[in-house]
Amino acid sequence: MTDRKDELAGNLAKVRGRIAAACVAAGREPAEVTLIVVTKTYPASDVRLLAELGVREVAENRDQDAAPKAADCADLPLSWHFVGQLQTNKVRSVVGYADVVQSVDRARLVTALSREAVRAGRELGCLIQVALDAGADGRGERGGVAPGGIGELADAVAGAPGLRLDGLMTVAPLSGEFAGRQQAAFGRLMDLSTDLRRAHPAATMVSAGMSADLEEAVAAGATHVRVGSAVLGVRAGLG
Ligand SMILES: *Cc1c(COP(=O)(O)O)cnc(C)c1O
Repeated sequence: MTDRKDELAGNLAKVRGRIAAACVAAGREPAEVTLIVVTKTYPASDVRLLAELGVREVAENRDQDAAPKAADCADLPLSWHFVGQLQTNKVRSVVGYADVVQSVDRARLVTALSREAVRAGRELGCLIQVALDAGADGRGERGGVAPGGIGELADAVAGAPGLRLDGLMTVAPLSGEFAGRQQAAFGRLMDLSTDLRRAHPAATMVSAGMSADLEEAVAAGATHVRVGSAVLGVRAGLG
């Protein structure tokens, strides 16, 4: 193996070990938790190595970086998740490679995603991004809709051609009542997921937890964790 492949293999083993340990602690089966590796800022060559190491789910947060990377990796058996704030003018590009958009947080985005999914002849999975730190405007600093807005948005996704409502996503808030309380935040997301599933039983995905707080997410009941730096290394600069 190359040095980089060795490094990624070692990091992946550690992260999978952390997930397994968190599952044991929570009385859950490791198979209940899917690892999504967030490859943002890292090159397509790393994505290729990750695929060779058995990774099947990757995530990106900027279309400019993700689109060429996904094209380079089109031969690999990967599912691509889009997890960043998404402008409607990027929707056509994102729908070209993404299997799941985890950052659906407003009605206009639902309309645009639906139009482009239909045009592309694809079914696109959608998660509603929940802002647990939403301000008075009902939106979070890093995107997301306030809990009170989930129901309406979920109905819009469920009723939109080309879209499939898969569940909820959140990022642990840095401010507000949940700042520094990841497990409480993820517990709140689980409660919101329970509410959502009353109306939409198939929307079972709960995407929560990153490198620093995946244990809290698994403990709360997350079905998907999104891990970047613990697998690929600490990112330089933005991302
Ligand atoms: C970057 C990012 C992650 C991964 O964060 P790490 O701390 O590198 O694990 C997860 N989710 C979203 C939405 C991200 O933007």
